[in-house]
Parts: sequence; C-alpha cells; structure tokens
Amino acid sequence: MAKKPEHRPIHRTDLLPSNMTAGKEAAVREMLAAYRTGAVMLGREQWRLFFETGRFNKNFDKDKKTYAAVIGAANRVQMCRYQVVGALQSWVSNRSNEFRETVVRSSLPPETKHMLHVVNKAGACFSKDDVFMPKSGEVIPDDLRRLARSIMRHVMAKHRRPNLSRISMRLDRRAGAISRPAAADQNGRVGWWVRLSTMEKGRKIDAPLLTYDFHEKRPGRVTDGIQINLDRDGRLTFGVVTDMGEACAASRDAYDGNGEIALDFGLSTLFATSEGQLLGQGWLKELRRYDERITKIARGMQRRGLKPRQSRRYKNAVTALRGFLRTEIGRVFNKLVEQGQPKELVLERLDFRNPTLSRRLNRILQNAGRSIIHAKLQDLEERLGITSTEVNPAYTSQTCSCCGYLDKKNRRDQKTFRCLWCGHVMHADLNAARNIGERRALAIGSGFHGKAAVLAELVRQFGERRVYSTRSGGRGSTVDPLSTNPYFKGKVERGSDVAKARPSQNLVAA
Ligand SMILES: [Zn+2]
Repeated sequence: MAKKPEHRPIHRTDLLPSNMTAGKEAAVREMLAAYRTGAVMLGREQWRLFFETGRFNKNFDKDKKTYAAVIGAANRVQMCRYQVVGALQSWVSNRSNEFRETVVRSSLPPETKHMLHVVNKAGACFSKDDVFMPKSGEVIPDDLRRLARSIMRHVMAKHRRPNLSRISMRLDRRAGAISRPAAADQNGRVGWWVRLSTMEKGRKIDAPLLTYDFHEKRPGRVTDGIQINLDRDGRLTFGVVTDMGEACAASRDAYDGNGEIALDFGLSTLFATSEGQLLGQGWLKELRRYDERITKIARGMQRRGLKPRQSRRYKNAVTALRGFLRTEIGRVFNKLVEQGQPKELVLERLDFRNPTLSRRLNRILQNAGRSIIHAKLQDLEERLGITSTEVNPAYTSQTCSCCGYLDKKNRRDQKTFRCLWCGHVMHADLNAARNIGERRALAIGSGFHGKAAVLAELVRQFGERRVYSTRSGGRGSTVDPLSTNPYFKGKVERGSDVAKARPSQNLVAA
C-alpha cells in the first residue's frame, strides 16, 4: 500500500467567538486569569535561569505544587511553561538578530566580530560554558564573552520584554478538547464544541464556538487543542488551529516558478525589482498620513498627562497602520509573484527607519514592518515554495549595475543613477535592485560581512573586469573619476589593471 507523503505542519489560527452562558464564561475567565498569573511567575523563573545558565528550560519543574495551586492543574502548568518558554525564546531570537546587525555595523576588528558572531550563534551570551571557535577549536576568551554579554544587554534593554500577563491560554486536548457538533446544532452556526477544564477540580464545561465562512472554507485539518484569549474589547475569543501542511504542499506542486527577482526596499517606492517594476509607489505618502494622525492623538494624550496607549483612539490608529502595512505589503508581494512567477526572492536586510517620519512612527514601523514582511515571505515559501535570501545592501545604491563602478557621485539625485565610468543612466531604485540580485551570486553580501568587507570586494572586482574597452555607450565623465574617488584611494595606481581597463574616450564615443 502506498504510504501517504509526510507534510511539515503549517498552522493558521482562526479566532471564533462563543455564545456560552454567563456561568460558563465566568469559569473560563477565572481559568484564563489564573493561567496568566502563573505565566508571569513562570516567566520570572525562566528569566532567572536564562541569566544564570544562558538558557531557558521548558522542562525545569521545581515548585510543582505552588504552580499547580495557582494555575489549577499540573498538566496546565506544563502547557503554560512550554508556552512561556516559546514566547521568551522567540523574543531572544529577535534580539540575537539585532546583536548580529549591531556587530556587523560596528567598527570592531574582523577577528573580534567573528568571535562575537560565534558566541551569538551559539546562544551563549549568558552561558558560563566555554565556547570554541569552529575551525581552530580555540576557546573564546573572557573579555570577548564579557563584550558579547554587554552588547546583548544593550540590545535587550531597547525592547520591552514579552508581557506574559496578557498571554493567551494554549490548551492541548487534555484541558481543551475540540469536536464537531451534530449537524443540526443551533442552525449550523456552531462550528465546534470545546470541552474545557475549569479551576474546580474535575469540573468540565462545554463551550459552543460560532463559526464563520472563512474558517469553514480554510483548507487543511483542524488540530487538537484550543487557544483562549481576550480581544481588544475584553471579549473572550477561541483560537482554532488548522494545519494547512497538506493543502500547501498541493499548491506548491501547482506553482511553476522560475528564476529570481531581487528587490530594493525604498522610501518613496516600497519595492523596486530587478525586472524593472516599481511596486507600492506612494506608500510613504500614506505612511505620513498615519504618522500625522497617530502623532496628533499621542500629543493630545500627553498634554492631558496620559500615556497614548491608554487611548482607544490611539490603539485603533496603530492597529489601522498595521493593517495598512499588512495589506500593502501583501498586495505588492502578490503582484510580484503573479507577474514574475519567481522561484526565489533576493532582498536586502530591511531597515524601516525613515528620517522624514516621526520617531514614534519609526518605532512602530521597526517593530511591525519587518515581522509583517517576514510573515509574508514565510507564507510565500509555505504556499508556493518561493525561497528568499537576504543580502547586505551596502553600496548597492552607489554601484553601477552595468559596469560595477562604485562612486558616491554616481547618484545624480534621489531618482536618477548616472555612472561616471560608463555613462549608464537608470532609475536609481531599479539600479539598486539589480545590484541586490547580483550580490546574491557573489561571495560577499551574506550577513557576516561588514560594510568594509563589501567595499573591498567591490573595488577588487571592479579592478578585475577588463570588458570596458569593448563596451559601447556614452562616456561617464571627461575627467578620470578614479582620481577623486575616495573608495579607490591607495588601491589603484596609474598603470594598474583598473586604470588600464578604463576605455579611452575615443573608443567609448564610437
Ligand atoms: Zn557603469
């Protein structure tokens, strides 16, 4: 008998309301409140472990009785601890990415950077165990470990830690079993029954969940267990998790992608592509509108001595902004995929900071923008098998995508790129997108190379090219641009390969 192919699970959660009785609802709320109190306590314990041993430990099981008394049952303590550790780990893994970026951007010597990356990659900033360099086997010295710790502390201090007092309650089948109702039940509006434990030992309640079209139509298999949370208005919601692994495998098979598309992320255009598309034009204008609105509400609140987040209007405005980002980013990616049918996407590491927006909006964008893009990329990979690669974007806006010449002065203005070497003229963002695509194929540009390494490699490669004398096209500049270009200072001398490679003016003009 043929074995059914295995699929990696892909989970999507739909939030469904319940119309259960007030008595049942009180029991669920009581259990959620207790679960959250327990989560905060477990979180404290896990942070202590993290700073003492370098790691969280989801199996750390001391004070069993204390926790069981708070949360109501030993099995829910375990569910809660797993969930808490998951939330903390994912927070720390984001900090670890920022650690990497901080080190890449720093002016530390290359060997120091390498060691810091190794410590960070091993997740060993706070560990007391030795960390070894992969090739030499050398033990990373104490002063470097201290430096790694202080960088990590610095990065961590910039963010609020996960708020476990607002965590949703994720119950597996032992505490929250889900089942389909009899067909005629409540005119078909009830999609599921959930059998829930309560704080009262041995007492279980059955809660009906109302279903929606989008949930009923979602392809995939509903998993055991249930997530319980409060929405922004304090109403209980029930998260039903569908495993779309199999459905996604089918859509991946059906998608026929070819080649790669590189994307340049920009201020005025969301993405320019190596295929020459400008997608999401005018999104900055839209962001400014959100910025004005959010800033105005925040100022009003602050004048009254209140925190902006206490305002419903403020929260709504931020939610609307996130919604706009999600819709706009989703739309642009969908269009890109529909038109280009790529197999792979190449992107720079995205930096959402924009000097023309307020600090507040920049902060929201930093937090929301990246995670929305990553979620979309993950979705494309899961549903269509489109992979994505991040490259270092250093100098992509100053380098000519035709001849490889890099010069600060290559950029004529915000929109136009004009190469001083070969005379090539192009939309600045499209030129950058092409460079991002090129970079993927080069040895440079992976996360572990700093700006200086990228520059050295670009200069070296430009020196190696000897194709200019046969290229036809306009002349970039009448004076030798190398003579005033600081990137090439001391690297190129008269009569060297680079200098010789420059086409004579007669040849180029031909
Ligand atoms: Zn050029």
